[in-house]
Amino acid sequence: MATNGDLLALEHVNQVYTSGERPFFAIQDVSLALREGEFVTLVGPSGCGKSTLLRIITGLQRPSEGRVLYRGQPLRGINPHATIVFQTFALFPWLTVLQNVDVALKARGLPPTLRTARALDLLDRVGLDGFEGAYPRELSGGMRQKVGFARAMAVDPELLCLDEPFSALDVLSAEALRGELLELWTTGKIPTRAILMVTHNIEEAVFMADRIVVMQKDPGLVVTERQVHLHHPRQRKAPEFLEMVDRVYATLAGQTEPEHIELGSAPGEPGRTRPLPHTTITDLAGLLEQVANKPGDRADIYRLAEELGIDSDHLLRLTEAAELLGFATITGGDIALTPLGETFAEASILARKEICATRIRRVPLVRWLLSMLQATHEKRLERGVAQTALELDFPPEVAARQLETIVDWGRYTELLAYDDTRDYFYLEAAGAAPTIPGNSGTAVHEK
Ligand code: ADP
Repeated sequence: MATNGDLLALEHVNQVYTSGERPFFAIQDVSLALREGEFVTLVGPSGCGKSTLLRIITGLQRPSEGRVLYRGQPLRGINPHATIVFQTFALFPWLTVLQNVDVALKARGLPPTLRTARALDLLDRVGLDGFEGAYPRELSGGMRQKVGFARAMAVDPELLCLDEPFSALDVLSAEALRGELLELWTTGKIPTRAILMVTHNIEEAVFMADRIVVMQKDPGLVVTERQVHLHHPRQRKAPEFLEMVDRVYATLAGQTEPEHIELGSAPGEPGRTRPLPHTTITDLAGLLEQVANKPGDRADIYRLAEELGIDSDHLLRLTEAAELLGFATITGGDIALTPLGETFAEASILARKEICATRIRRVPLVRWLLSMLQATHEKRLERGVAQTALELDFPPEVAARQLETIVDWGRYTELLAYDDTRDYFYLEAAGAAPTIPGNSGTAVHEK
């Protein structure tokens, strides 16, 4: 419910569409408050209603049911204090950078005498000083998005809504722009009182937000929220950061902690060491894509074996891997994707790597091998040593298959690498295989 410090509050909001036979809840019973000074991100698979929520919050759309309050008052029509920055900002190609920002100020009714100075100031603040006369085609993607930010700032928004603002940019531009936005925000250089950002990228959410709201689809509802109590600038490699990323993934995997899937213990530790299902991540991706194409992201396991043309033994190993990593749940002969599985199925190759890495890092067998590698001086471990250690828990042929699976999973996620010619695992610290004294051959490592 709305409280005094709330800039915006949604109370029991429903958005129902009735195009099909039965009413469809794009948003179901969402209550969400944004407080002053907060940076909140919304994460969840495609179709969970994130864009619909943004439209409702900015007043572009009225919800079927429920209340939207802005500073305690019911919102009627477009919210004049809020603005949205989209994935790719539509700039007018025939206008210069300055004119593109000027258009927004003109729409606000500012007189021409004030507009130029204000537009120059906005461009300066987003770091585009010197590019006022350039045309959009002359700018990089990152710079065009900065013009978009400057234009959004032209209305002095109290509430800045960002709809995947970095997803269309290359990796470097996106990272630079994230840092710049955070600096503007944390130093108070923009008048914005709260930011709400939709993203598919969990690391981005943990890097930027104070609070992460996790949604699921069919119906679109808020599953849980997590506060991020980490100081800026956040360190992506810090254990607290990685732990938070893992926790959000665990929530998307359908569970709040502790996760119900039995991971087993590491070799040499008390308890049973659960063997990894012998599969490749590429085959697993194929399975998840196939299930994602079915209504309700759910399929009958035995029909899948026929459709995919694989034997049921292979399919069962795949479904077990999907469950182990939190991509699916198996009940009564059916496999159903979790929100994380849906996110994986629709993600880019890079995002898939990242998702898999966070899930595979928690598997005891992988953790065990990684910690052994870390403990060695050269971050390298002979296969034979790992095989001997595993044979304390498994028969030799099972131990060998376990290592094959770890090689595939490790390579896919780049968590660890394997040198085929010299038969050792290694950590790719500097992106190259370590050299062995007395052996000048180059390492072979496929990706
Ligand atoms: P997201 O941004 O999380 O991908 P959306 O808010 O775009 O999700 O959509 C949520 C769900 O509502 C989707 O299943 C989508 O197909 C459905 N939806 C969105 N707009 C409409 C509409 N105008 N009519 C019918 N269904 C819609």
